[in-house]
Amino acid sequence: MPQNPDKIVDHVDLFKQSEYTELFKKKHEQFEGAHSDAEVERVSEWTKSWDYREKNFAREALTVNPAKGCQPVGAMFAALGFEGTLPFVQGSQGCVAYFRTHLSRHYKEPCSAVSSSMTEDAAVFGGLNNMIEGLQVSYQLYKPKMIAVCTTCMAEVIGDDLGAFITNAKNAGSIPKDFPVPFAHTPSFVGSHITGYDNMMKGILSYLSEGKKKDQTNGKINFIPGFDTYVGNNRELKRMLGLMDIDYTILSDSSDYFDSPNNGEYEMYPGGTKLEDAAEACNAEATVALQAYTTPKTREYIETKWNQKTKVLRPFGVKGTDEFLMTLSEMTGKPIPQELEIERGRLVDAMTDSYAWIHGKKFAIYGEPDLIISVVSFLLELGAEPVHILCHNGDEVFKKELQAILDDSPFGKQATIWLGKDLWHFRSLLFTEPVDFFVGNSYGKYLWRDTKIPMVRIGYPIFDRHHLHRYSTIGYQGGINLLNWVVNTILDEMDRNTNITGVTDISFDLIR
Ligand code: SF4
Repeated sequence: MPQNPDKIVDHVDLFKQSEYTELFKKKHEQFEGAHSDAEVERVSEWTKSWDYREKNFAREALTVNPAKGCQPVGAMFAALGFEGTLPFVQGSQGCVAYFRTHLSRHYKEPCSAVSSSMTEDAAVFGGLNNMIEGLQVSYQLYKPKMIAVCTTCMAEVIGDDLGAFITNAKNAGSIPKDFPVPFAHTPSFVGSHITGYDNMMKGILSYLSEGKKKDQTNGKINFIPGFDTYVGNNRELKRMLGLMDIDYTILSDSSDYFDSPNNGEYEMYPGGTKLEDAAEACNAEATVALQAYTTPKTREYIETKWNQKTKVLRPFGVKGTDEFLMTLSEMTGKPIPQELEIERGRLVDAMTDSYAWIHGKKFAIYGEPDLIISVVSFLLELGAEPVHILCHNGDEVFKKELQAILDDSPFGKQATIWLGKDLWHFRSLLFTEPVDFFVGNSYGKYLWRDTKIPMVRIGYPIFDRHHLHRYSTIGYQGGINLLNWVVNTILDEMDRNTNITGVTDISFDLIR
């Protein structure tokens, strides 16, 4: 239908107009009305039952709404945290469009990455020519300081050898021989975006540090944030390290890339870890990873090839942040400043204020392994009781670590950890054993609509709410943000359940 350009109607109002409502009605009658409303209702109710849950959990050959992304998304995310770096994906264009839009929709920021646009001929003869041409065009057109190459499923299925292809491209004169082109094979039929992050991080660090190892350390500590999509977190990390006067390098810092100022000028590669700092990282005192399951290969590489100690520290909640700061203090000999002690007191005070609303509340959560461990640990500190914990891309090591945390708390006894399950499984869990709230990314909004269980948006991606990614979730200040999101979701729900005048509003309190 033509719109009046002087008065564009938002699609929410547009689709309520009679032309559309009639069109949808006809479409339903002619193409979608295969079953009666009563039959649709009957089946819908059945999908909420224990009988259906058992069938759903017996499912083996099908995934419905996976709670994970594919490897190249993580590889691109890792690459974009380095100065002037252009991710180059050897594979099909459609995949790369998905990776870019996924990140763009989360951050509401541009996300630059190129594809070698492999099609049928490349699938038959291999993608070498695509690589040779692609690297040349990328280098000349987008003028990066580094090109980081990863693959899609297609390139992996046909067996493209990235190392040999990049050498061939350099020999063919596509790019200068000394131009940095690290790479990582990222087949998406194994692992997930966290595996891709790890592969690319190892690929970049091993490439840049080649031949740079010295006898003396440079006194710095490296920090690897992992697949952490809260831009506030790297800034919070830098602030805490600044307060402690610790000399550091953040390995892959995409906070400025994904949160650049609007000053009227487009900058293709804002911010990022300087390449010379990343190259020098092999001479640091130690490396601290803020996530374990996004960095296993990278940490192993650092320990064996750089001969450097690594540690995993997750600065979430009171306990996690205490451990983080005390360990850094031990490692560096620097005291924890009073400013951070005061912040700790503020978080404890905020938790005390909200404790009564969260204590004893049952919750479910899905997400990546490290995020789950961090958020569950924090909620256990508040006395909330996990019931369903679903981690599509978690492994037995993760399960063991999380189980120990649950066993250690009086509030963790009822929790079941589900590995390798998807959001359709999660739906069955919520219907058969409901909880007071659940935690997840934007894909959970369909579960919220179906089950009416309040949802707290934490994780990646968050497409349907603005600015959450700008906040921090780490440190004592990040703890207050997490607390805010959880307790105010509970209070919103309380208001919704007590708002009928003269019926339920005896508890519709002004002061909570
Ligand atoms: S799973 Fe494979 S085919 Fe699908 S988007 Fe990821 S790389 Fe492409």
